[in-house]
Amino acid sequence: MPELPEVETTLRGIEPFLTGHAIREIVVRNPSLRWPVPAEVHRATGRGVTRCWRRGKYLLVELDPGTALTGQEPGGLLIHLGMSGSLRICDAADAPRKHDHVDIVVENDKCVRFNDPRRFGVFTWWSPPASSHKLLGSLGPEPLSAEFSGNHLWRNSRGRNGAVKNFIMDGKIVVGVGNIYASEALFMSGIHPARAAGRISAPRYDALAGAIRDVLSHAIRRGGTTLRDFQGADGNPGYFAQELLVYERAGLPCFQCGTPVRRKVIGQRSSYYCPRCQR
Ligand SMILES: [Zn+2]
Repeated sequence: MPELPEVETTLRGIEPFLTGHAIREIVVRNPSLRWPVPAEVHRATGRGVTRCWRRGKYLLVELDPGTALTGQEPGGLLIHLGMSGSLRICDAADAPRKHDHVDIVVENDKCVRFNDPRRFGVFTWWSPPASSHKLLGSLGPEPLSAEFSGNHLWRNSRGRNGAVKNFIMDGKIVVGVGNIYASEALFMSGIHPARAAGRISAPRYDALAGAIRDVLSHAIRRGGTTLRDFQGADGNPGYFAQELLVYERAGLPCFQCGTPVRRKVIGQRSSYYCPRCQR
């Protein structure tokens, strides 16, 4: 599943092909994604892209708002890669492959193509302010922003008995901490994933917030190194092999102490941890 670093890498990959260019057309081959692709997406036709940005794992393509005279609806395209989605750059004339559901065709005949075998992705329209969109409204702070801190985690966790791993994966608390990076950050900060969120001290949350930032920014930097492959001949979107400390390493020795890494299901998700290093 694409996690925040892959989404950020995707953003950096598509941004130069969209920003400053006019959209010639939106081609919808299959509207049956997580929700049907609405007709509003065709409002993008003929309009310039002013910027591309990310909120959590949502990509926003913002369009020239026009004037009262042109009567354009301000806003733009809202894309989520779901479980298996990807975007790639190709020529508009290239034959679509299986699961290529939607194209954003740009004036120079380049095309950003949305592929999604499992169709849990989202391709829809947003109107400003983006924060009022039903998918974006309740999102917590960005993990790499100044708003996110150990203090933010500590304050919001008081009185919560649920596992800390579920707490940091809750998008209302902080966005974009998926299963892989939650396991990794908890290992890096020495916190047991099943520990009650409300029973972790402020200093330990400082360590955890720092680990979340480190693990995500490291992965984004690694993703950046694959950017040149973004529009490679094979059209591979440039997801990257991860160097992981505990994730999917059950039974293998902990890199810190040699104790076998354990796997435990928490909130229906596999969690990996060292029983000796994490308390
Ligand atoms: Zn260990």
